[in-house]
Amino acid sequence: MMKNRRLARHIGDAAWNGFVMKLAYKAEQAGVHLVKTDQWYARSKTCHCCGHKMAEMPLKVREWQCLSCHAEHDRDINAAINIRQKGITDLMAAGLVVKAHGGLRKSGSLSVAA
Ligand SMILES: [Zn+2]
Repeated sequence: MMKNRRLARHIGDAAWNGFVMKLAYKAEQAGVHLVKTDQWYARSKTCHCCGHKMAEMPLKVREWQCLSCHAEHDRDINAAINIRQKGITDLMAAGLVVKAHGGLRKSGSLSVAA
């Protein structure tokens, strides 16, 4: 299968789409919104502290230091924080109220988790 990159890609896309569909179903059941981020959004190489974007970030680099604010980052944790913040920003831009912890409804306004 690895020799046929096209087939491998189709199988990977189908698996990903199935995962996203299940996630959307679970989010709907829980009464929360599912936010999808742009795949080209530079979540790994953008400093979540100051927003500085590194020009290059090879995949093998797992930890890095921001050239602007000198914060030290674990690549995956930094990416997770950026994705969470992007989701919150997108939901707020859509006029939704976002709670910091779990998105439980506490008032008459619509609450969501990101
Ligand atoms: Zn920084």
